Amino acid sequence: MKPLILIVEDEPAIADTIRYALSTEGFDTSWQANGGQVLSYIENEPVSLVILDVGLPDINGMELCKEIRKKTQIPVIFLTARAEEIDKVVGLEIGADDYMVKPFSPRELTARVKAVLRRTSALSHGNDSITPCPAFQIDDLKHKITYFSSALDLSKYEFHLLEIFIKRPGQIFSRDTLMDMAWDDPDMSMDRTVDAHIKNIRGKLKKIKPDIDPIQTHRGLGYSLKEDL
Ligand code: CA
Repeated sequence: MKPLILIVEDEPAIADTIRYALSTEGFDTSWQANGGQVLSYIENEPVSLVILDVGLPDINGMELCKEIRKKTQIPVIFLTARAEEIDKVVGLEIGADDYMVKPFSPRELTARVKAVLRRTSALSHGNDSITPCPAFQIDDLKHKITYFSSALDLSKYEFHLLEIFIKRPGQIFSRDTLMDMAWDDPDMSMDRTVDAHIKNIRGKLKKIKPDIDPIQTHRGLGYSLKEDL
């Protein structure tokens, strides 16, 4: 079954462009021009991800996202026409998974959709009610991770990388896998970016616990998180 992507966008031309780009990449799409029916649609259809315009005629997209979050953890990618809205969206107080500023390339949006789906499906295989690694606590909604009860100040990609490790302690992830899982558009990034981010994460963890280096390097293979933390 193809993943179903719900597009909530009041401009038909933009919605059409997105639908076309997604359908050529093997997605099913559904379109709603305003927000009123979105909650009931999500409850009744197997929607994998929502692309949500912030500026809808009947409801602010961010308010709608909050309503969606009360019911489900379904991934949401925002479309915004105004750069000043990004702070709110990226602050992720409303629980969005990613955003794009108009005008955007449909190809890039499709890449983001794939990245978010990879990330969320890879992570949801773990049982969320169990913390596999007690030294760390993840707050998915706020995009915060605490380490031995101290909050880490992480960039977006540092957060995603560390989250991947924490949910699968002991598993070795290659740089390619980490890039695919954590980055929105892996094609646009260089391999060494993973190394640079891991180095930053290590530095931040070390500040809290200087005597522990929980991320292990496996030469030629990749990285893993220590299992016995
Ligand atoms: Ca709009």
